[in-house]
Amino acid sequence: SEAVERHEFGAEVGRLLDLVVHALYSDREIFLRELVANAADAVDRRRFEALTGGAPGVPEGAAVRIVPDKEARTLTISDPGIGMSKAELTENLGTIARSGTRAFTQSLAETGPGDRPSLIGQFGVGFYAAFMVAERVEVTSRRAGAEEGWTWASEGRGDYTLAPATRAEAGTDIVLHMKPDAEEFLEPLRLRTIIRKWADHITVPITVTQDGKDEPANEGTALWRKPKAEVSEESYTEFYRHLGHVFDKPWATLHWRAEGTVDFSALLFIPGMKPFQVVEGERESRVRLHVRRMFITDQAELLPPWLRFVQGVVDTEDLPLNVSREMLQATPVLARIRRAVTNRVLSELKGRAKNDAGYVGFWENFGPILKEGLWEDAEHRKDLAGLLRFRSSAVEGWTSLADYVARMKEGQEAIYVLAGDSPEALARSPQLEGFRARGVEVLLLSDQIDAFWPERLDRFEEKPIRSITQGSADLSKLAPVEEAAGGEPADVSRLIPLLKDALGEEVSEVRATDRLVESAVVLAAPEHGPDLHMQRLLQRAGR
Ligand code: ADP
Ligand code: MG
Repeated sequence: SEAVERHEFGAEVGRLLDLVVHALYSDREIFLRELVANAADAVDRRRFEALTGGAPGVPEGAAVRIVPDKEARTLTISDPGIGMSKAELTENLGTIARSGTRAFTQSLAETGPGDRPSLIGQFGVGFYAAFMVAERVEVTSRRAGAEEGWTWASEGRGDYTLAPATRAEAGTDIVLHMKPDAEEFLEPLRLRTIIRKWADHITVPITVTQDGKDEPANEGTALWRKPKAEVSEESYTEFYRHLGHVFDKPWATLHWRAEGTVDFSALLFIPGMKPFQVVEGERESRVRLHVRRMFITDQAELLPPWLRFVQGVVDTEDLPLNVSREMLQATPVLARIRRAVTNRVLSELKGRAKNDAGYVGFWENFGPILKEGLWEDAEHRKDLAGLLRFRSSAVEGWTSLADYVARMKEGQEAIYVLAGDSPEALARSPQLEGFRARGVEVLLLSDQIDAFWPERLDRFEEKPIRSITQGSADLSKLAPVEEAAGGEPADVSRLIPLLKDALGEEVSEVRATDRLVESAVVLAAPEHGPDLHMQRLLQRAGR
């Protein structure tokens, strides 16, 4: 009809589709995992909007329905979820805007062509996985709260169409016109096996239609409510992947039930890889809040921003189901949960910092985020100090503050640090010369956040933390390891006024130092105020 609009896919989508269509046969079943996950997300989002925005909620007993039709050779996945407007159909299905798919395309760029097809199974490609099994996909959707619906349709080549459509209720139907060689996915038994394998933990009911009847296909028990002993590692991993739209394995899984001042079940994961959003995205924790199994929101900030890499679910009985946004902010129940959950994560990290060789990998992924807590969270600053790891001028690999203190020289009064842009550049800095010559270790700090926190932490085990570019670090009590070549230090008393004259306003002071061995001069920051690295950062920021 004339109302049909034709649009080109974004360039990235074109490349992705090409790959998906030529994927390995054995990976194809994951298309159903992707579509069912999207459907379940859409139902959760509709529930949440209904709670907070007053929009009509999800109908009682609503399910994600999977309807195979052998005669028509179609497979339909219907959900009573939030639906998509015309603009959302374009944005979500016509471009690569989303998390899972973006992570996938990123890792594609890093692999050779031979490895690519198996990546699809590991990562999923979101909605576009439908084109592994379908020669044509039609998505008819009506946004909750909207009157009209739209149908998006494509054969997975260069373009897609959009046309007005009718749908009795809010929600989405995805109709897959199956390829001739994908008819196995029209068998109800095969479909149920796939759901069992990939989507059992999804709490929205999922049905597969067989002989005209909707048969339940998922167990739907909230995994976090099960006793630990009854949950397999695979179920944990699958749930973790579903939660975070990620495809690695969790490095740590924390599953416990708290009883006492506040009752809740928690299932939290620390990722094994650094997800894209944690680096580029928002600072708020996205741990999900459930009340009596029902998803409420992922915006309750159940963990502080410096633990935002932790994924998971907290489920409590101590809040009403119709909890509002305002109430979430004010209730002491949530404050208690926050405290308990934060402390539990910290004590897990403490234990692993001692006993888990994988801690270094964790630190490389999330250390810079954890350090934000040193700056902004006075309550946990002390706990965090024990978790820190550093590059150092004296030892290979990573070291802790406790190990540094144990290595301190006799007469050494402070923990010395040097902040800058890269560990390599820092290791070559002339600022280190005097310290090296005296065998005094300096910690090398090269994360952005390192310019900020040392001042706040101030000391560790009573030892002050000092930037070596600041003021005149007193090295006179520490004997050099070996006499620097040249013997007696030169008399520079006549040189100093000359330099001061030449530099004028550029410097506030010129003085002799015992910090240098090879170099003739070095810049230092005043005793009080920002150190050199901080000054450079402020300059870059136009201050
Ligand atoms: P991801 O799930 O990682 O965001 P997908 O490619 O699977 O990526 O989906 C893209 C986006 O399309 C989703 O984020 C969502 O906004 C939208 N979407 C997909 N399926 C549905 C659905 N059944 N109902 C509502 N929105 C959907
Ligand atoms: Mg998805």
